[in-house]
Amino acid sequence: MSTTAAIAFLAASVLFIVGIKQLASPKTARAGNLVAGAGMLIALFAALPLLLSAQGGGVSLWKMLLIFTGILLGLVIGAFGAYKVKMTAMPQMVALFNGAGGGAAALVAAIEFAHVTRESSLTFVVAMLCAAMIGAVSLSGSVIAYLKLEGHFDKPVTYPAQQVMNGVLFVLSVLLALAMACGSHSMVLMVLFLVLALVLGVLMVLPIGGADMPVVISLLNSFTGLAVAADGFAIGNVAMIIAGTLVGSSGTILTLAMCKAMNRPVTNVLFSAFGKANGASAGAAAATGSVKSVQADEAAILLSVAGRVVIVPGYGLAVAQAQHQVRQLSDELAKKGVEVSFAIHPVAGRMPGHMNVLLAEANVPYDQLIEMDEINPEMERVDVCLIIGANDVVNPAAREDKSSPIYGMPIIEAEKAGTVIVMKRSMGKGFAGIENALFLRDNCRMLFGDAKASLQELVTLVKAD
Ligand code: NDP
Repeated sequence: MSTTAAIAFLAASVLFIVGIKQLASPKTARAGNLVAGAGMLIALFAALPLLLSAQGGGVSLWKMLLIFTGILLGLVIGAFGAYKVKMTAMPQMVALFNGAGGGAAALVAAIEFAHVTRESSLTFVVAMLCAAMIGAVSLSGSVIAYLKLEGHFDKPVTYPAQQVMNGVLFVLSVLLALAMACGSHSMVLMVLFLVLALVLGVLMVLPIGGADMPVVISLLNSFTGLAVAADGFAIGNVAMIIAGTLVGSSGTILTLAMCKAMNRPVTNVLFSAFGKANGASAGAAAATGSVKSVQADEAAILLSVAGRVVIVPGYGLAVAQAQHQVRQLSDELAKKGVEVSFAIHPVAGRMPGHMNVLLAEANVPYDQLIEMDEINPEMERVDVCLIIGANDVVNPAAREDKSSPIYGMPIIEAEKAGTVIVMKRSMGKGFAGIENALFLRDNCRMLFGDAKASLQELVTLVKAD
């Protein structure tokens, strides 16, 4: 590798690190994305001469055509996908892009394997085998995760001896890897190895519940990172080692953070088939009382005369794309002297930070956003808690009903507020598919309708009041 290429890869790596650091805060996240993107562009141009002259064949028109077609296709699909994707479908897009990354890492490893000789070091061969296996698992697992999020599976797919079968497949893959590491450099073995890894990825994700897919995607994301880092070791590319390690470690941290927010160990997410329980009966034990609906005009009065209002946004706010209307309502209430804040649950919505991103889009000031742990001790002093399209993250069954599948998950303790107003379209369940006893409590009023339409009506009424 030339000195220029080495410096360019190092510069790209520094930009990746700066970018990921900036992603840690909503204020700098946009810039962080651009900085990391610039790093990727530098890495791409630095890799071009290496790719063109790879395997000693010199620069040919055919090679150039292949490489530039690949780059063009990637650019068009990436830009089009990112431009078209709805905020609520972001996890699906991440799953697909991540799967593509895993697949690419597995292909790089498989192609490099074709050049293994008796003189190749064991570290080189082992790094490639790891990249091939982890990358292939990540590819097929991500495709299943995508299909689950798109609603193509009603329930987790489970069958007897599932974990044993997965264990057998894993052991078979390790045996094949051992055979290849010990000198059987046949491409037939490599293809078989990749097929086994692809099947393993499918079987690993099939039994996991749809609501757990964001966690799985984050875990597969860290797999892809590790596969890329292993490729980097094999082909001696420092940018791939650093980028892969960053993705691997940040994916692992994110996975653990999400599990902590749901109060479930990773093993429970991976092996419990969460969501397989009959949604109609789950959580019903805690449900007593009756549904009391409220009209927008009465809700507007309750909000206007309150001293303190806490808004709890959830997935439904994102579906309705009502972030601008909620900001307007907050502003109108503030004009009337009402103290308004937003309570943010770490797994509200469908991806980590979903609510922060949504509210940032509407320029809701950051200091109005309060984390769950900070707001809960204050809840008893809140006059009105306005829940907009949130369900599971305010479900008291998580604290009170030991039979509930979400028992133990920390929630925003909305029920402690003087009055709770819930805005949603129906008595429909949330992602966990369980009843919510909060909606039947004496201090709870349901404001039925699409969140955007209801919020628009509330803004008009509060303004006119
Ligand atoms: P939920 O999925 O629990 O509930 C969303 C509610 O929004 C539904 O009950 C629905 O009721 C309502 N809704 C949908 N569309 C609209 C609309 N247009 N207007 C008004 N309301 C609407 O959301 P939460 O945010 O409370 O919980 C997130 C769930 O996702 C949790 O179970 C969490 O564990 C899970 N999860 C989240 C992750 C993350 O990183 N954020 C990761 C993994 C899992 P109705 O149909 O009656 O309108």
